[in-house]
Amino acid sequence: LFVVFEGGDGSGKTTQVGLLCDWLAGQGRAFLRTYEPGDSVAGQQIRSIVLSPSTGDLAPKAEALLYAADKAHHLSAVVRPALERGEVVVCDRYVDSMLAYQGGGRDLDPTELEQLARWATDDLRPDLTVLLDGEPSELVGGMADKDRIEAAGDSFHLAARDRFRALAARDPEHYLVLAARDERDAIAAAVRERVATLLV
Ligand code: C5P
Ligand code: MG
Repeated sequence: LFVVFEGGDGSGKTTQVGLLCDWLAGQGRAFLRTYEPGDSVAGQQIRSIVLSPSTGDLAPKAEALLYAADKAHHLSAVVRPALERGEVVVCDRYVDSMLAYQGGGRDLDPTELEQLARWATDDLRPDLTVLLDGEPSELVGGMADKDRIEAAGDSFHLAARDRFRALAARDPEHYLVLAARDERDAIAAAVRERVATLLV
């Protein structure tokens, strides 16, 4: 079972990934907690290029290709092996982040970008994507120590949010959309309830 958390910066994905994994552990389920970009040795290096403010401007296509490279490696080195071992994989960000940030935010052609992301991941799709949706000014606004992307302007984050929501609306069966501003434990309970229906 492949479960992904998506949403804007500051939406609480990492917290919710942790709460779901705590619950899976309590159920005695084998699981793997992971994230993109960066959860591999090569991925750490890619992450530092894309996120370090010292990188400065990156051509949008170069940025997209770096995220795609991280994904391709992460999928083959980390995600797929865990799925093959029968583990529940819980991933903080996946393809939708690329479609939202590089597609919505950077204004690359959405069809080409989606082809790139599908190619990089052999079109492996999550069984469930939890989208933590919220107003960027409420979420990113409160963050300290912003990375290169978080520091981008409001219109970038608004475009990414719209794209996340459009992706969820396109395939409601595989998405759970929750309000990021809702209470932490209420969100976690809704996620558990949905994941429980997918566990056999
Ligand atoms: O830890 P976090 O998931 O926030 O780090 C990833 C960072 O990279 C985020 O700030 C996000 O805005 C950015 N990102 C991006 N495009 C992606 C994935 C992440 O711009 N495809
Ligand atoms: Mg971030």
